[in-house]
Amino acid sequence: MSRGKISIAPKLSKNARTVLAKRYLKRDSAGQPTETPEDMFRRVAKTINAAETGTEKNKTNYEKQFLQTMSNLDFLPNSPTLMNAGRELGQLSACFVLPVGDTMESIFEAIKNTALIHKSGGGTGFSFSRIRPANDEVRSTSGVSSGPISFMRVFDAATETIKQGGTRRGANMGILRVDHPDIMDFVMAKRDLTILTNFNISVGVTEAFMDAVEKNQDYDIINPRNGKVVKQLNATKVFNQIIDMAWSNGEPGIVFLDRLNRDNPTPHVGEYESTNPCGEQPLLPYESCNLGSINLANMVIEGEIDWDKLELTVKLATRFLDNVIEANKYPLPEIDEMTKANRKIGLGVMGWADMLILLNIPYNSQDGIALGEQVMRFINEKAHEESKQLAKERGPFPNITGSIYEADPIRNSTCTTIAPTGTISIIANCSSGVEPLFAVSYIRQVLDNNKLIEVHPLFERIAKERGFYSPELMQEIAEKGTVQDIEAIPADVRRVFVTSHDITPNDHVLMQAAFQRHTDNAVSKTVNFSREATREDVATVYRLAYKEGCKGVTIYRDGSRDMQVLSVAGKD
Ligand code: UDP
Repeated sequence: MSRGKISIAPKLSKNARTVLAKRYLKRDSAGQPTETPEDMFRRVAKTINAAETGTEKNKTNYEKQFLQTMSNLDFLPNSPTLMNAGRELGQLSACFVLPVGDTMESIFEAIKNTALIHKSGGGTGFSFSRIRPANDEVRSTSGVSSGPISFMRVFDAATETIKQGGTRRGANMGILRVDHPDIMDFVMAKRDLTILTNFNISVGVTEAFMDAVEKNQDYDIINPRNGKVVKQLNATKVFNQIIDMAWSNGEPGIVFLDRLNRDNPTPHVGEYESTNPCGEQPLLPYESCNLGSINLANMVIEGEIDWDKLELTVKLATRFLDNVIEANKYPLPEIDEMTKANRKIGLGVMGWADMLILLNIPYNSQDGIALGEQVMRFINEKAHEESKQLAKERGPFPNITGSIYEADPIRNSTCTTIAPTGTISIIANCSSGVEPLFAVSYIRQVLDNNKLIEVHPLFERIAKERGFYSPELMQEIAEKGTVQDIEAIPADVRRVFVTSHDITPNDHVLMQAAFQRHTDNAVSKTVNFSREATREDVATVYRLAYKEGCKGVTIYRDGSRDMQVLSVAGKD
């Protein structure tokens, strides 16, 4: 294979290499990688470029640029694109939503389709709101119905089985509307932490419900089988139950359904009823979306944002993601059709916390929040400009007539999404999504029972430059989980190295809202609470997120789950 001038070898961290070798690179039957990370980027650039339009010269040019931007770790597409492009599976999207109707055929069809999607590394979201409640009538058998929650367990079991063989853990989002008769059982569904482990659950909340909460009123509960109001529940009581469960183990989250639909670019095609598993991507039934994220840390040159570089990267990434729609091999014909008719893409960011550190701005400051808004406004505008340009070259998305873009054609019905970037941020060695740092240093347990202290690379550099680095200090930080009260560290350094636990829940929400204001889709964000936080604190944040225009909220109170995925003592 020819090797141009592009070299990525020195840039990838050890962790990045480990992750790539484990799950992304092609491997032989003995499990040994048969390609290097550089080969992987070439494979992806080539496959995505095959969808390019225009002259041969143009095509060569874009292939180089795609390779360069990924190799520099300036932009990375979502994991399925890195894993599957140019390979047999060829499924490139992270996000799917499947319809679940109120019949056995529809429910088990959805389970089969879920299996096909999980096999390829995609995540699935569902609304279970159309399923009739438990103990309702079933004419054909003269029996009683099982209800949405028991069917969710079947989806969960199927996911559990498939994940053994797939490229990565299959993830699901389960949504139930707040006016479904089984809502209270749904809210309590994950009280037992050993069930529905492959699901994130969120209550689909309406404006009418939030209104009723504010006024402490009752609201209607409707049986989806016949559309009849079966009873009323007190909104405050339901809201408090949601808060109580979220306080005790982080779930359910909530999604503001009316708000998703207010921003639905193609209301004539269908209504949003669910998002993807991590909540950042609302999709119509049978729609998929591919995501990609720009590493903002690489957009800072000598202490300032390089806006020209950012603009070029946004435009190139938009083009890349539009090509992914063509290069993709879809798991079902319905998904192929729907995805190509709306052409959604989700460009977002990672390394936001790192960018702030490089600019010497605290995450939890007015300047930080204002800059978040400015950066995302810029990205959103440039992505839309490029998508409009692509519409001129390649035509607008086919469902444009009747959409919000009818008068101003665009190639992609949505352009921006803030993904969690759980794995691609490890590959790019930057902070994830728009989250603050999780820790400045932490202890990693390695195989032989040894402990390794991992230090944030920017902190290590500054500590060494300014002469306060010592292994003992790094150990102390790892144990405390914060640098805020360590006097050996200069105050100006402490100010910018704030971690998710140093930041108030309010500031978490304000940052989420700042990005949401300029994001077509939604923002993946977890609002962290200290262990001591009260239920009232959680309720305040849910209300604030609603008031600030967020599309959903996910919270986590430290220590509230037995097995925490991320703990200060070991992020992996
Ligand atoms: N996702 C999934 N399984 C996983 C991780 C992610 O299905 O183990 C899906 C899910 O839809 C999530 C989306 O991928 O919302 C994006 O997640 P993330 O940004 O963390 O993915 P990355 O590209 O970094 O692997």
